[in-house]
Amino acid sequence: MIRLPNALLSLFACLCLSAFNAGAADIKNVRIWPAPDSTRVVLDTSDPVTHTAFTLNNPERLVLDLPASRLQTSVAKLNFKGSPVDTIRSSQRPDNKLRIVIDLHHKVNFKIFALPPNDAYGHRLVIDLTNYQIEGAKLSSPPSQQQAIKSLELVNSQRNIVIAIDPGHGGDDPGASGPRFNGKYLREKHVVLAIGKYLQEEINRMPGFEGVLVRSGDYYVSLRGRTKKARQASADLFVSVHADAFKNSSARGASVWTLSKRGASSEMGRWLAQKENTADLIGGIGGVSLDDKEEDLAKTLLDLSMTHSQSTSLGVAKSIHKNMAKMARMHKKQVERAGFVVLKSPGIPSVLVETGFISNPGEAAKLRTSAYQRKMAKAVATGIRQYFYANPVANTYIATVVEAKRNQVKYKVVRGDTLSEIAQRYNTSISKLRAANGMSSKSILQIGQQLVIPAG
Ligand SMILES: [Zn+2]
Repeated sequence: MIRLPNALLSLFACLCLSAFNAGAADIKNVRIWPAPDSTRVVLDTSDPVTHTAFTLNNPERLVLDLPASRLQTSVAKLNFKGSPVDTIRSSQRPDNKLRIVIDLHHKVNFKIFALPPNDAYGHRLVIDLTNYQIEGAKLSSPPSQQQAIKSLELVNSQRNIVIAIDPGHGGDDPGASGPRFNGKYLREKHVVLAIGKYLQEEINRMPGFEGVLVRSGDYYVSLRGRTKKARQASADLFVSVHADAFKNSSARGASVWTLSKRGASSEMGRWLAQKENTADLIGGIGGVSLDDKEEDLAKTLLDLSMTHSQSTSLGVAKSIHKNMAKMARMHKKQVERAGFVVLKSPGIPSVLVETGFISNPGEAAKLRTSAYQRKMAKAVATGIRQYFYANPVANTYIATVVEAKRNQVKYKVVRGDTLSEIAQRYNTSISKLRAANGMSSKSILQIGQQLVIPAG
């Protein structure tokens, strides 16, 4: 009797399988390569393989479907340390599809592509996972119940509006310095990081919004690096947070800035812009060139996309200014303009918020307290929310909510109306009517009151 070696046997099985399933592939091995900014997962396949992929959240997962394929290796012993991957699971679907589920610690961006054989490897399917939640993701607390509910609401619904929050300076670049408190100088980089974190909290609390921190610790990020991170997060808005100094310590007041193509609208603007822009020299990066595009083309692109997002930038800035004015002294009655490099983010509407002058002793004393920092964050978040509700972005959760509100039927209460009568008239129930209008069982109908009639 002839004994075939095992390897040959499996090759045989493999060949037979391919013969019967056109395009079928075996996953012979799975390899993982974690790097600081990205993780590469490689599937060694017996043949070129097609795929479909999608993500699921809460918990975060990347799902990969391969037609008529089989996993011929164990993924149990893979070491995922230093990667966003928690586990890899697989299942054979009834339609002979192989489903691979990559459980993730946090949200990622992914790119999947096939590679032909080379000297070392055969056919491969490569999954590149890049960090979506920029740094500090592991430090963030587990999602609250509220966030979980928020995510549930968003299932099968529309996308979130993503706000990139950019606390200025950091690391070697402390930004402006204020007076000393308990022997230590109050530093802009610390104040704006605290405000930025509160702002993220406030934004994540608003359904349909998502806050992403561009800097989440005490380290330096180049000005270009900041906008790049915002682009990577597919941000709808970029908000840079500062608390600067002026040569004259009596200068005071918070301000909101948008980009000016023609120069600053005031001496203050020129001064601040010059200070903010020189911050980048510390990081060793100069100029405004985009990394991968020809300089000329880049300038044109920058120009085009800037005019496009200019009106949004100004709209958001006005809305933030209005809300900040309710809780802080403002430097000017209107939004100001200057040539901040950090605001030159192609395609992303951008605003810069000066939360106050850290060089002014009175404002510094306020800016160092968490109560004031939170209040400031709340005002900025409210400004953002109000703008996007008034100007909803297509295909977002907010757009859906606004559309639903527009289509709502309303009824004005007249003398003699009862809740049960109105419910009957509109073919709904008293409890639904109460719920739609935030009424308790003790609430009394008022003549002239506008009632929202629930759909259905
Ligand atoms: Zn600053």
